[in-house]
Amino acid sequence: MIDFNVPPYVGTEMEYVRQSAEDNHKICGDGPFTKRCQSWLEERFCADKVLLTTSGTTALEMAAMLCDLEPGDEVILPSFTFSSTATAFVLMGAKLVFVDILPDTKNIDPAAIEAAITEKTRVIVPVHYAGVACDMDEIMAIAKAHGLLVVEDAAQGVMSTYKGKALGTIGDFGCYSFHETKNYSMGEGGAVLINNPAYCERAEIIREKGTNRSNFLRGQVDKYTWVDKGSSYLPSDMNAAYLWGQLEAAQTIYDDRMATWHAYNDAFADLAAEGLVELPVVPDDRVQNAHMYYLLLPTLEDRTSFISFLKEGGVQACFHYVPLHSAPAGERFGLFHGEDVYTTKVSERLVRLPLYYGMSDGDRARVIEVVRAYFGK
Ligand SMILES: *Cc1c(COP(=O)(O)O)cnc(C)c1O
Repeated sequence: MIDFNVPPYVGTEMEYVRQSAEDNHKICGDGPFTKRCQSWLEERFCADKVLLTTSGTTALEMAAMLCDLEPGDEVILPSFTFSSTATAFVLMGAKLVFVDILPDTKNIDPAAIEAAITEKTRVIVPVHYAGVACDMDEIMAIAKAHGLLVVEDAAQGVMSTYKGKALGTIGDFGCYSFHETKNYSMGEGGAVLINNPAYCERAEIIREKGTNRSNFLRGQVDKYTWVDKGSSYLPSDMNAAYLWGQLEAAQTIYDDRMATWHAYNDAFADLAAEGLVELPVVPDDRVQNAHMYYLLLPTLEDRTSFISFLKEGGVQACFHYVPLHSAPAGERFGLFHGEDVYTTKVSERLVRLPLYYGMSDGDRARVIEVVRAYFGK
């Protein structure tokens, strides 16, 4: 069976993990590897401040906490996303307002955002699906006009750009995931990007159990104390050590994934031309990171038989999100605003193909062969 995902491993990670324990004697958070990873991310993506977190989910929680929401405040997000995008804001007492996506990128529709804004709206959460950027110029303009904060869920968007800017660095806050299913991994982990300097100090406090320990370590205060709400959002330096191996190889991992993505896209171009499937759309002003390769089958029934055909052919393919507004918790904590033209239809028709770092040419060719065979090619 060709697996849908294999966690990325380049070969240097375990030596760095060993160093964290045996040489550095530092396995808790904020050790040398955490600092190296954070500096690398800041430099590579021209980000003001990057803090590693225990997951993409907790990066979103930190961002949501920094938004300082009050019960009843509204947050606008797509329904076509992972539960974490929503739960982070539910934990802060917000009301979720789900809106529709665009049919090309499957990202949140700026016009639907604009239509959903009320007196109570505080935050917009664009999710960069498949590592392809949302329409950030339009979204940032709407946020500015209405005085709203923007939290980018860039969990899938590490190494992608929008008009030359790294995803996660455009809104007030950006959130990355380094889960094993993402392009760059530390097992479980993530990062929050603080792009609005006014929030930097509070971000460090929230991440350190509500204490000003970071100020203390820099010698800015002579003792540290509990000053605000917060939690423990620091990952172990052992996990950061694993991530360091991946970041050093970031370009290699990127090139490898892109090669598979383009091999698929070239191999299925004729199927799309004949109207048998729809392929992913990457607008010209965005650079993607090959986080995902998906196809859209004509109907739910087609997708179901496509997935079982692939399974019989030894290829594991997966559907994706069940729209959050139709999930039990989504009904409890939110409402869909406007018309669901694309969200449900896309979620019923979309199927993701195996794509991971180090996929062999043979496996790649086999996936292409089985997909084409389904269409009688
Ligand atoms: C993976 C993912 C998350 C959550 O990241 P974790 O590191 O698994 O907590 C959040 N949002 C999106 C869009 C994701 O793909």
